[in-house]
Amino acid sequence: MKKIVLFWHRRDLRQHDNAGLAAALQSGYPVVPLFIYDREILDLLPSRRDARVTFIYDEVERLSQQTEQAGGTLLAYYGKPLEVFAQLVRQYEVAAVYTNEDYEPYAAVRDKAVAELLQQAGAELRLYKDQVIFAKKEILSKSETPPKVFGAYSKAWLAALRDEHLLPYPSRELFTAENLAQLAGAAPRPTLEQMNFERFEQEVPAAELPAEELVRNYHLTRDKPGLVNSSTRRSVHLRFGTLSVRELMQQARALNPKLLNELIWRDFFMMLLWHFPDMATESYDPRLRRVPYRNNEAEFRAWCEGRTGYPLVDAGMRELNQTGYLPNRARIAAAGFLVKHLLIDWRWGDRYFADKLLDYDMAQNVGNWQWMAGTGAVAAPWFRVYSPQSQQEQYDPAWAYVRQWIPEFGTSQYAKPIVEHKFARERAISTFRAAYQNQE
Ligand SMILES: Cc1cc2nc3c(=O)[nH]c(=O)nc-3n(C[C@H](O)[C@H](O)[C@H](O)COP(=O)(O)OP(=O)(O)OC[C@H]3O[C@@H](n4cnc5c(N)ncnc54)[C@H](O)[C@@H]3O)c2cc1C
Repeated sequence: MKKIVLFWHRRDLRQHDNAGLAAALQSGYPVVPLFIYDREILDLLPSRRDARVTFIYDEVERLSQQTEQAGGTLLAYYGKPLEVFAQLVRQYEVAAVYTNEDYEPYAAVRDKAVAELLQQAGAELRLYKDQVIFAKKEILSKSETPPKVFGAYSKAWLAALRDEHLLPYPSRELFTAENLAQLAGAAPRPTLEQMNFERFEQEVPAAELPAEELVRNYHLTRDKPGLVNSSTRRSVHLRFGTLSVRELMQQARALNPKLLNELIWRDFFMMLLWHFPDMATESYDPRLRRVPYRNNEAEFRAWCEGRTGYPLVDAGMRELNQTGYLPNRARIAAAGFLVKHLLIDWRWGDRYFADKLLDYDMAQNVGNWQWMAGTGAVAAPWFRVYSPQSQQEQYDPAWAYVRQWIPEFGTSQYAKPIVEHKFARERAISTFRAAYQNQE
């Protein structure tokens, strides 16, 4: 049997500008692209009707068709990665498995176990940096520690950036019959039904670069959730790698420094999660690990369903529930309100977003939630409690966003405020202050 190399797609569902795939295609061995519908992840989802699974499924099918057209075979399995690889090394002569790095805590454990299994079979797991520009320890502070101030990180990031960092990898050009293996008798790819998932589509913009005009105006529109196309809406594509971050960075670098800055935040949170995997479940700041949150279930439900009586928060939560997306400003309003006004543990909100957001990404979600709660490595000050009224005046002055998502707004049907702002603000500040003082 002829030796092959497997290219394991994970958060990089594309053939163009793909670092690990380009390396695999230059390995000298015929390449077989592979996708594993990972039961370690999928079995934990709260619903079998999940738009992200449908999205991934459609993308894998598209990749498979493209692979066949190019003269190769894409393998797809539903199972646990270790079991799938154990079977693959029995069935094929695998010289190596190429893949792109993933910085989440589960991925680190999984990849280590897969590397060990492959090693026993005489093969190697080769990892490439693809989904960020700088990873792990590439940007460190002067004391050789991960920077915990975003300003210092972004300054160092910009100083380190060279044109080469944003150049595309030639994976599409190399994706030819000569570099691919065609497998006879490959196992059929699983269908959504076989994996026990229902098809559930939510609207996603095309996986291409946003219009130039949008990017040029981004700094003027990004904080206006009531505008159509106020931001790029490319987060889903960055999450699943259907768009290359290098391409979007190139465009942002040329046209809008504010957009580039937001993309640097993305690198930053990925870097932090890799260094501090515990921040996925614990407040980064140890002094704020024992805040006596109220965690009132009925109030949490009201927040989830957009019934707090605070229009910007409610509009955001309803948009999230209906579409799987919400604009950054509405995420900020909703997160701040949950933690400060209702004194509910940020992890409850993090979990709810994780279940609902199409673009859910552990590093970005946890990083931003902890920033909002004031508990993170970089954080808004714990005593900052946004005023819902001034947020409304500043970001949705004509009430366009609110009216779009709350049809009963302005009628007696709309909820009364769940809590009074001034009272809630003082309660939050005294609770957080006490938590701090108890630790000192
Ligand atoms: C509480 C909270 C939770 C969040 N959870 C997620 C999440 O799970 N997944 C996610 O991708 N983003 C998350 N964000 C960040 C941000 O809100 C979204 O990335 C953004 O709204 C997506 O819309 P867009 O693609 O139009 O962004 P744009 O404004 O067009 O920005 C372009 C890209 O830059 C990156 N970006 C923008 N803002 C941020 C930010 N604050 N932090 C990190 N990266 C950023 C994203 O990759 C985004 O797609 C969260 C923010 C908050 C406040």
